[in-house]
Amino acid sequence: MAKDRLPGVLERYEAVIGLEIHTELTALNSKMFCGCPVEFGGEPNTRVCPVCLGLPGALPVPNQAAVESTVLAGIAFNCEIAPFSQFHRKQYFYPDMPKDYQISQYDLPFCGLGHLDIEVDGDGAAQRLEFGGDAYTARIDVTRIHLEEDTGKMVHVGGSEGRIAGADHSLVDFNRAGTPLMELVSEPDIRTPEEARRFAQKLRLIMLNLGVSDCSMEEGSMRVDGNVSIRRPGETELGTKTEVKNMNSFKALHDALAYEIVRQADVLDEGGRVVQETRHWDVAAKRTSTLRSKEEAHDYRYFPEPDMVPFEFSAEWIESIRDRLPELPDARRERFMRDFGLPANDARSLSEDADFAAYFEEAVALAGAALAKPLANWALGDFSAYLNAEAVAVAEARVTPAMLAELVEIVDAGTISGKQAKQVFAEMVTSGDAPGAIVELRGMKQVSDTGAIEAAVDRVIAASPDEVASYRAGKTTLIGWFVGQVMREMRGQGNPALVNEILVKKLG
Ligand code: ADP
Ligand code: MG
Ligand code: ZN
Repeated sequence: MAKDRLPGVLERYEAVIGLEIHTELTALNSKMFCGCPVEFGGEPNTRVCPVCLGLPGALPVPNQAAVESTVLAGIAFNCEIAPFSQFHRKQYFYPDMPKDYQISQYDLPFCGLGHLDIEVDGDGAAQRLEFGGDAYTARIDVTRIHLEEDTGKMVHVGGSEGRIAGADHSLVDFNRAGTPLMELVSEPDIRTPEEARRFAQKLRLIMLNLGVSDCSMEEGSMRVDGNVSIRRPGETELGTKTEVKNMNSFKALHDALAYEIVRQADVLDEGGRVVQETRHWDVAAKRTSTLRSKEEAHDYRYFPEPDMVPFEFSAEWIESIRDRLPELPDARRERFMRDFGLPANDARSLSEDADFAAYFEEAVALAGAALAKPLANWALGDFSAYLNAEAVAVAEARVTPAMLAELVEIVDAGTISGKQAKQVFAEMVTSGDAPGAIVELRGMKQVSDTGAIEAAVDRVIAASPDEVASYRAGKTTLIGWFVGQVMREMRGQGNPALVNEILVKKLG
């Protein structure tokens, strides 16, 4: 497997990777240059009009929200926002582009040079040899972010396995044609498949937090192309690159790049040359194959879109977009660590999704920052498991922040044990009742009355002379067994800390 050979190859060659990431602005109501709705799927060719069908005489009107979203993304990726920009026509002989050109941006995109810092840790860190396997941060420069329109969709029908070559005929659906599409291009600063994966994952989180797209790699609203070449360590010239397409998951992106690096190394090791070409990742076969070579590359014959005037963004307007930038996951994580004293891993998991983070913060506001850690445990544990199991959004969760805060407070006050709290949570999920009410109803109150606990401890000690003798002879690990006996005696309602304390005193 290529993945297994990757570490060996990376000892002899340095990989150079640049990503091109397309994000459909699915959160917007309308297409890029017309008023047709932006929605996934639907009856083919029902979300179309003269503009997105490219009928003669139809004129494009740029979608203001799409322009703003792209500039907002540019600000999130620390890009320079261009004071002067414009759309270009990219001539494109494809049946899924009704105009036979795509309106895109060329040498004057909305956003220029920027960067994104990625953190690499765990097993993935070992791919970058110079850091000796330790966690590290790498800054990846962003070349540009521009805006264009998406193409329609081809469906190849009949023939062998629906392959283009074997298909009887092809159908085209223009529902997607004209969907606002943002493209981010990175500099070739990425050095390992793991870094590429982290970059794409972080980009996705940022786009989700900006609220511009649903970023679904399965549905194709986020599409990543990987450009990759290799060279000997210390070399400054870039090697010949290949471009890999069709990865519909982060794992596929990682594995396709790993495969390509190993394949290129084999070519060079045998004295061959890497051919510049576009390759296709076959998920099932776990390998790439030639899609088209550079010789077949298109000459796009870009020229300025004559139906639209250029854009001139004033400094004030750019600032007004900057003011809209929401808190992003990195900043939120830092804040959670600082204000709530949370460990980095908890803070990271809690801060990725804006709604989830807001839910957690609401619960902390109610229970107090001193209970942030147990709240984090509940939010990331049982609460997340419930959201996943029932596929509900945070906003629709039956367990409200107030209920979770109350549960943590009841446990903290010693009213119920942690074990009982799990039962209470399960019941909160099914009944939607508040934890206090459930505890009342079920008579679950934890017994913290020392008199009752002492009586139960005395009964257990009297009934277990052998264990008592062993314990007193030094086998103190028996304490767990004793606690269990007392808890059984008290039908699980004894306060475990008190039970433990009284047992140790009486046995000692
Ligand atoms: P193309 O004209 O073939 O599309 P670009 O120069 O526009 O190439 O670059 C496309 C992407 O490929 C960018 O992300 C860039 O960083 C990356 N890239 C360019 N050259 C190389 C190379 N030699 N090796 C790896 N990636 C590269
Ligand atoms: Mg390209
Ligand atoms: Zn339309």
